[in-house]
Amino acid sequence: MVVDKDMHKDNFIFKNKELYCEGVRVADIAKEVGTPFYLYSYKALVDRFNEIKSAFKEVYPVICFSMKSNNNIAVLKALVDKGAGLDIVSGGELKKALMAECPAERIVFASVGKTSDEIISAIKAGILFFNVESIAELEEINILAERLGKKVQVVLRINPDVEAATHDAIKTGTLEKKFGIDLMNAYKIFMSKDTYPSLKLSGIHIHIGSQITSIRPFVSAIKKTVAFIDRLKKDGICLEYFDIGGGFGIRYKDEKLQPVSKFAAAIIPYLKKAGLKIVIEPGRFIAGNAGIFVTSVLYFKDNGVKKFFIVDGSMSELIRPSLYSAYHKIIPVKETTVKKIKVDVVGPVCESGDFLGKDRLLPELDKGQLLAVMSAGAYGYVMASNYNMRPRPAEVMVKGNRFDIVRRRESFKDLIKTEKIPEFLKDENS
Ligand code: PLP
Repeated sequence: MVVDKDMHKDNFIFKNKELYCEGVRVADIAKEVGTPFYLYSYKALVDRFNEIKSAFKEVYPVICFSMKSNNNIAVLKALVDKGAGLDIVSGGELKKALMAECPAERIVFASVGKTSDEIISAIKAGILFFNVESIAELEEINILAERLGKKVQVVLRINPDVEAATHDAIKTGTLEKKFGIDLMNAYKIFMSKDTYPSLKLSGIHIHIGSQITSIRPFVSAIKKTVAFIDRLKKDGICLEYFDIGGGFGIRYKDEKLQPVSKFAAAIIPYLKKAGLKIVIEPGRFIAGNAGIFVTSVLYFKDNGVKKFFIVDGSMSELIRPSLYSAYHKIIPVKETTVKKIKVDVVGPVCESGDFLGKDRLLPELDKGQLLAVMSAGAYGYVMASNYNMRPRPAEVMVKGNRFDIVRRRESFKDLIKTEKIPEFLKDENS
């Protein structure tokens, strides 16, 4: 197999016909950890963080890794230690961000439905700002800030009503979606900012969607927002922050991708015009290609119409193919010259929608042979479930020639530890 340029960049490469993550043979990890498991390259994570940092260096951004894409504490720590902040969406993510020793002044908090408890915890922690998504939320934060005797910094997440060319479920920047505040209401809020004495309304936030591969929607959303910032300035409202969200796409298959430096070059003139401090919230761009999902073949089945590799990984561990019809390259961990056949790669879960890949050309593999599902580092483990009583898989990180299990595989005990049989059911049998 020819070494794929992107794989190389992401530190998953073939040496002597065997897939390696940095300096470690993937098969050796599988032997020790068992399958299925997620595998992350430390170097790929840090390289992608540095790539986006360098692309935007002219505007000195605060880069808040979007931890909804991957919240493994080792991943967070690796990035935080390189200077990343974190974009959080829940109280749980706040606690974990702090555990990863992210300085609170590098944490930003978006979510359309923050609870009072979550807001109080974030105020107490002293985060950089809240990304506020409705008038009702603004009022709630104002009340809670006043109660705590704090002046709290907020930025308004506006909905620029711009269509991003991506899967409908991950588009967020049009008014049919629940996200953000429309420009008219946002303007009214800024003009009546004195109604919120415990808040400092100091910026604007946009996030138009995820896995965006074309520069155009980005530029139009940013242009529109900069015009809005200008209008506010003329009306005497001077802001401090412009949070441009995340959404930078990655290569899963054969997408025609512009390098992030091209995105940056197209946007930076407008950002300079706005003249505000810039925050960026990339998730997938940093973690997506830095991780793979490794699974092994359980059975081969040929029903006369279709051929299947039934593997030990499923939609419970990696739901993106089932949920979004997302494409992930699937490759054998050991190169072979065995004849290739067209197969669906499916999991053991009792759903027809449980598949990792359809109609793939793969060599005829035997039971126990390993497959790598590529580009699985973002929205992979974080979306895993226990559907069909399946324990969530292990996560492993490689750095150079070393690897460690950064989250152990769940046990049956983990799966049932929060359940109980109530006394009244026990009574019925007595
Ligand atoms: N910021 C916000 C507000 C988001 O909702 C998301 C993803 O949904 C992100 C950042 C990260 O997006 P991506 O992983 O596409 O960079």
